Amino acid sequence: MKDTDIKTQSYDIVFAGAGLAGLATAVEMLRHPFFQQKRILLIDRDRKQHNDRTWCFWATDDELIPPVVHRSWDGCRFLAPGFEATLDIAPYRYRMVRGLDFYRWAEGELARWPNVQRLVANIRDICPESGVVHTDAGDFAGEVILNSAFTPVRLLPKGTRNLWQPPLSAPAEDPPPGRATFLLQHFKGWLVQTPEPVFDPKAMTFMDFRIEQQGETRFVYVLPLSPHRALVEFTIFSPALLPAAAYDEALRQYLHQYLGLRQYEVAEEEFGIIPMTDYAFPKRAEGRIIHIGTAGGFVKASSGYAFKRTLRRARAFVSAWAQKGAPDTRHLHTRPLFHLLDSVLLRVLHDQNDLGGVVFTSLFRKLPPALVLRFLDEDSSWLDIVRVVSAPPSWPFSRALLEVLVRKMK
Ligand SMILES: Cc1cc2nc3c(=O)[nH]c(=O)nc-3n(C[C@H](O)[C@H](O)[C@H](O)COP(=O)(O)OP(=O)(O)OC[C@H]3O[C@@H](n4cnc5c(N)ncnc54)[C@H](O)[C@@H]3O)c2cc1C
Repeated sequence: MKDTDIKTQSYDIVFAGAGLAGLATAVEMLRHPFFQQKRILLIDRDRKQHNDRTWCFWATDDELIPPVVHRSWDGCRFLAPGFEATLDIAPYRYRMVRGLDFYRWAEGELARWPNVQRLVANIRDICPESGVVHTDAGDFAGEVILNSAFTPVRLLPKGTRNLWQPPLSAPAEDPPPGRATFLLQHFKGWLVQTPEPVFDPKAMTFMDFRIEQQGETRFVYVLPLSPHRALVEFTIFSPALLPAAAYDEALRQYLHQYLGLRQYEVAEEEFGIIPMTDYAFPKRAEGRIIHIGTAGGFVKASSGYAFKRTLRRARAFVSAWAQKGAPDTRHLHTRPLFHLLDSVLLRVLHDQNDLGGVVFTSLFRKLPPALVLRFLDEDSSWLDIVRVVSAPPSWPFSRALLEVLVRKMK
């Protein structure tokens, strides 16, 4: 695979965007002889040579995870007013993957295949009918385009468009209003370095809701990497971003008030916005384009987690494609029951934005942690689902369920 050696402008499969979803799907393809004969092009404007994000997720040892886990933890501290516990999450471990390690690993995997080419270029537009991807480095046609570069913004409400990604093509009409709930998960993280050994590398903080909620759902998580280093992330689920300085101030205050740090250096920073929406992304496939990743609605609407879901969906989608000889987008969908449950929790957070702490506290206080995590992975039995939905206060959920059902009937 070479960056510049693009011999032809026509491919069987073109990836528009080669971040998590693009790379995970491409690597998955090459496990199947069916795809080893296909001409595949990955286009991304970024060479992926810097650590632009950190992925965290829980997984058992048996799950499909690339061999690039940077750290993992068995115990997860959960803190909230009136409830503090170290959650035993077995059989899961909480794991951390550095973006750069994943990109390098995927690059190495793809480099073994001469049928795969990679292009660094800015994509300007994609034509759904012809499958032509217009870039600053020329036009490239694909029988199938797997797009993770652009959210199909014409599906999004106007107010949220500029917070996501640039338009796929000239915006068409506005989407029908009121058909979905939109929140943002926005966060800022500092990789903190201290002169004194203050962190316990065995104990990560999964969620700390003790901080002021200010009418929103706000928590901090702490990932200790050594006694002197930890990634501390201030996270909010809400409809709108804060001024940039407010994230720094919240981090400073947390380090001072809850971790007791007086002296530290900020070695790295991370800022992110993850969409939390139950929008059905009904047109996952538009002509030759299939949307994957965030653009395909892979982000879990009620939690913002997407890493493991992306790996799982890539595997299911690609293996069905190899078997049937054609892509089937049903493998990219969230099952209707879990979509409904996500919608209800999102609606609760939308209607009463400060309830997140109460909801997550009641889940982890009343139920075995692994049961909650299994539910968030959408692997629950019916009995588990009943236990989870009975745990939080019932009134806001009953009202939200009603709102969601009425919306669906309209
Ligand atoms: C900072 C951050 C931290 C996150 N942490 C977690 C976490 O801990 N756990 C978790 O489960 N999820 C996490 N997520 C959510 C989710 O897992 C990531 O956003 C994930 O990278 C989504 O994969 P994707 O392929 O859809 O998007 P990306 O990985 O962002 O890939 C999209 C690609 O498209 C390219 N692109 C965009 N526009 C163009 C263009 N015009 N031309 C060419 N290329 C273009 C980009 O360069 C990029 O490489 C995080 C997200 C962010 C932003």
